[in-house]
Amino acid sequence: MKFREKLARFFYGRYGSDQLNNFILILCVLLLIAAMLVRGPASYIIRGVSLLLLVLNILRTMSKNVTKRRAENAVFLKILYAVKSFFIRQFNRIRYIKSYRYRKCPGCKNHLRLPYKKGSHTVKCPRCGTGFNVKL
Ligand SMILES: [Zn+2]
Repeated sequence: MKFREKLARFFYGRYGSDQLNNFILILCVLLLIAAMLVRGPASYIIRGVSLLLLVLNILRTMSKNVTKRRAENAVFLKILYAVKSFFIRQFNRIRYIKSYRYRKCPGCKNHLRLPYKKGSHTVKCPRCGTGFNVKL
């Protein structure tokens, strides 16, 4: 058997890479850079963590349990989306500070963007219909 065929057979059915693996790899590189900047025992700890992440990355890539790896990636993407939307919300808060204020609905925790008018107002949530007072 040719080497190429052996290689193809070895990688057949393996999970490969996904967003979570890419994230782990980036984290690995960042930790290695951080380890170069730090001196003493902390440097070895950071290198150790980086090595563990690299091993985890290789194990995930070589895994044949595709269903489980996909589920892990789905959880990762969910968390990534939550973090991303948090930062986008904070950015928009600053960007539109002159014309809007952002408040959370006490009923359904929905984020509402309210036009900025000084004084006390009654707001009705468009999602759940809860009415509540806001002071802008
Ligand atoms: Zn609501």
